[in-house]
Amino acid sequence: MNILLLGSGGREHALSWKLAQSKQCDQLFIAPGNAGTSQYGTNVNLSNTDFGAIKQFVLEKGITLLVVGPEEPLVKGVTDFIKKDSELQHVAVIGPSRYGAQLEGSKAFAKKFMIRHGIPTAAYREFDESNYEEGIPYLQQHPLPIVLKADGLAAGKGVLICQSHVEAVAEYELMLQHSKFGDAGKKVVVEEFLSGIELSVFVLTDGKDYVLLPEAKDYKRIGMGDTGLNTGGMGAVSPVPFADATFMEKVVERVIKPTVRGLEQEAIDYKGFIFFGLIKVGDEPYVIEYNCRMGDPETEVVMPRLKTDLVDLFMATVNGQLGTIKIEQDKRYACTVMAVSGGYPGSYEKGFVIDGLNKPLHADSLVFHAGTARKDSNVVTSGGRVLAVTSYGNTVSAAVMKSKDVLQHISFEGMYYRQDIGFEFE
Ligand code: AMP
Repeated sequence: MNILLLGSGGREHALSWKLAQSKQCDQLFIAPGNAGTSQYGTNVNLSNTDFGAIKQFVLEKGITLLVVGPEEPLVKGVTDFIKKDSELQHVAVIGPSRYGAQLEGSKAFAKKFMIRHGIPTAAYREFDESNYEEGIPYLQQHPLPIVLKADGLAAGKGVLICQSHVEAVAEYELMLQHSKFGDAGKKVVVEEFLSGIELSVFVLTDGKDYVLLPEAKDYKRIGMGDTGLNTGGMGAVSPVPFADATFMEKVVERVIKPTVRGLEQEAIDYKGFIFFGLIKVGDEPYVIEYNCRMGDPETEVVMPRLKTDLVDLFMATVNGQLGTIKIEQDKRYACTVMAVSGGYPGSYEKGFVIDGLNKPLHADSLVFHAGTARKDSNVVTSGGRVLAVTSYGNTVSAAVMKSKDVLQHISFEGMYYRQDIGFEFE
């Protein structure tokens, strides 16, 4: 089968690595991909929101499976576009419909969905132009800290945790009256602050049944000890030591099953990943957010721990047969450490040559490219998050140590990585 994967990050490198291992995969194309994905398939210079160009390419190359990595094409309706086109009826898509992708594309939609289906989440209210005035006294009386969320996609920057009422009101005004997040902030969700530890749980669903994938914990902050600015993610570990069987049972019964049942009851067309951003408060799981795709860098530890053939899983998803599948997982820990450009998540330069990529690795390590590109005979940096090194180990610290060891032999100007991924599990 010929497969087209949309996206260009570490997530897509990990997905392409896994897809290429399947006997069912004949030709793999990645649009636009990165220097790493080209080891497993052919990179194609296509924008993943140019649906017309995607159609043309799909027809030209005889693609029968389209796998959507990032959220933007899903929220913009790539799945509906393919399903509605009479010439593309033979093409299966992994990724929900535009309506289903609202679980990520609209925080207000997701909150209402959770309330309808009794899924534990922070108490909230939503505000827009129509009830703007009401929001101000509401914020002034709200316990601190106050969580403000732009309703729509805001490149991961739309959540603000305000430590004072003055700050909360100011941010509220900026979003609703001064378009701080453009259209994404025309509606604001004001939410109770939950205090606990976060983790990411993933399923693949056909809209009726699901399979549970390995869970992961990611490290969002740039600095040691989880300090400093938020990033796209500096590392991840899987499995998550505090997500024991009792806790995961609660996640399944209170969060996953009601979500999948809710999709089915509401006849929402959803064949793809659901990423549950959870927080463990005491011993109880709450949903912080839904995403309609895999996480990055979590995919770089989830795929290495998944032993089941990914194309088999995708075909079972498309054919509504996930109820018959049992997932096999590698029992070892997989930990990934992300190397980023100097200055990231602020401004940074690109185009630096990456050395050491051809050095032999630990047998237990994998290098996944994120922001990399080929230039002449070199691989150069082309983004903030440059590459992730994933290693297996019998403990978190053994796996992290191997990844750091590999990173010591890789270099580019300004390279930085966190030394303490998994620090709380030592
Ligand atoms: P999101 O963009 O929804 O993933 O939110 C970004 C981050 O904000 C989350 O990973 C949490 O760390 C934090 N956050 C969001 N909502 C809450 C909440 N209700 N209570 C505490 N922290 C939150």
